[in-house]
Amino acid sequence: MSNNSSFSLAGKAALVTGGNGGIGLGMAKGLARAGAAVAIAGRNAGKNAAALKQLEGKAIAIVADVCDEAACRAMVNEAAERLGRLDILVNNAGINIRKAPQDYTLEEWRRVLDSNLTSAFVAAQAAYAHMGRAGGGKIVSVGSMMSLFGASFVAPYGASKGGIVQLTKALATAWAKDNIQVNAVLPGWIDTDLTRQARKDVPGLHERVLARTPAGRWGNAEDLAGIAVFLCSPASDFITGAAIPVDGGYSVQG
Ligand code: NDP
Repeated sequence: MSNNSSFSLAGKAALVTGGNGGIGLGMAKGLARAGAAVAIAGRNAGKNAAALKQLEGKAIAIVADVCDEAACRAMVNEAAERLGRLDILVNNAGINIRKAPQDYTLEEWRRVLDSNLTSAFVAAQAAYAHMGRAGGGKIVSVGSMMSLFGASFVAPYGASKGGIVQLTKALATAWAKDNIQVNAVLPGWIDTDLTRQARKDVPGLHERVLARTPAGRWGNAEDLAGIAVFLCSPASDFITGAAIPVDGGYSVQG
């Protein structure tokens, strides 16, 4: 991609939480190809090292648990320090625990909310000052079809992903004056470790997704690269507070 294009991320620095696999790595690859220096963060140092090898240009890895407030803030500060600036934050780290609502412990509820929603808020708070110094920034948070729909086995996950959309709107409204655009991406069903487990746990899921998705296939992690580049580049400077499905038509199938 030409570095003169409004889609270029040359000279920008990005942090992708959960960037060591799945959707996060798909997005990180897109940002790196568009010219950004990229920090990926995850708990697993081995996964971090393997993912780094797949990224073009300057890339670093940070071992961090985003559920730990201090570690989450330190992760953001370390990315800014080691990359020299921070223009882009992708809040992608997330987990799911699938059960009937009546069976969750409060610890499980909190673990899902902390991983998927609270971490995004804390990381965004920590990124705000760095983006101020950079003259603006881009925050992209990963929601889900469960930001839109309900399902019987996702009470905390659905609450966290619905929360991501409303958090996005609040931050977008507050920080527009700081030239920080904040948007959410709502992936459809994407083939990753997370959904490989879901296909084992939920009988018939694989076939139901295929039948419901107009594109006729599951997504792959690289399907999220284009939207990440767009929402992190000057091409999207007048888009803020949006929640954009990337789902092969799943959410518009009547
Ligand atoms: P994966 O399980 O493949 O990846 C999850 C990533 O998050 C890993 O890199 C993992 O790294 C990281 N992570 C999880 N918990 C933490 C934590 N506490 N601290 C730091 N990093 C953490 O899942 P996906 O790629 O499928 O999911 C990525 C995001 O996309 C999630 O938010 C998920 O909810 C969302 N999503 C996924 C969909 C799908 O169909 N796959 C659909 C819609 C949304 P590590 O293990 O090293 O910590």
